[in-house]
Amino acid sequence: MHMQHASKHTTIIPKKGIYSVSGYCLSCRTIHGLPMDEAIHYGRELIHHFQQNKTIDLQPGSDSDPRLSTEYLFGKARGKMFGVLVCKDLSNNTKILRAFSGQYNGLWMVEGWMPPLFDLDTFNSTNVPGEKTIKALGTQLEACTPKSDEWRAIRIQRKQLSRELMQKLHAIYRLKNFHNNEASLFEAYSGTNGIPTGTGDCCGPKLLNYAAVNNLTPIALAEFYWGLDNKSGSKKHGRFYPSCREKCEPILGYMLCGLKRQ
Ligand SMILES: [Zn+2]
Ligand SMILES: [Zn+2]
Repeated sequence: MHMQHASKHTTIIPKKGIYSVSGYCLSCRTIHGLPMDEAIHYGRELIHHFQQNKTIDLQPGSDSDPRLSTEYLFGKARGKMFGVLVCKDLSNNTKILRAFSGQYNGLWMVEGWMPPLFDLDTFNSTNVPGEKTIKALGTQLEACTPKSDEWRAIRIQRKQLSRELMQKLHAIYRLKNFHNNEASLFEAYSGTNGIPTGTGDCCGPKLLNYAAVNNLTPIALAEFYWGLDNKSGSKKHGRFYPSCREKCEPILGYMLCGLKRQ
């Protein structure tokens, strides 16, 4: 079983009070962030759940969806980031929110886990036909003589359509912050390069958006990696990591804006 890794996993945790999620805010011209602090405890609880139950089903039983098995994280797809956000509601009760990055085994929605930053029906109605067209062009491309004029033309067309599809999908995302403002990915993004694929799909943005929409005040956030180490080796099984630089940092400044210090 894969769990032999689990018992030996090492955990690297930043010093108390150091931000685990942060980003530069264009309107305040400063960095906003949240520490890991007590979220680490709940992150470890989640790790324990994975070790015990081998499923991300938070109420595991004999009827658990087999697609939620953690075996998935040790196969071709490799591991994934998981995040835990500790919040306070309006009556000062502690609430724990959980998220996985991107999709889990093809699923965007899993009970007990935070939803994506877009309406799933809207997303699918854009993505499904778009991907179909791009795939069809790929098939045409294979039938052409490589480097012929036709081959070049199809390749350019496919590239163009992929870019357009990505822009259409990015436009569907809605990011809410703690001033109760809402922005698209384009409006929230503080980076100078193009928006990378997968921006907004990490745990941090999912958790913070849900908190902002539901009047919850975030206190601490921790993210850890679970499963087969990623190909580059930058993510290791069972380790805690701060929010990513490429995708999260450029939107977290906006998303954390308006959050009162505890
Ligand atoms: Zn990220
Ligand atoms: Zn700000």
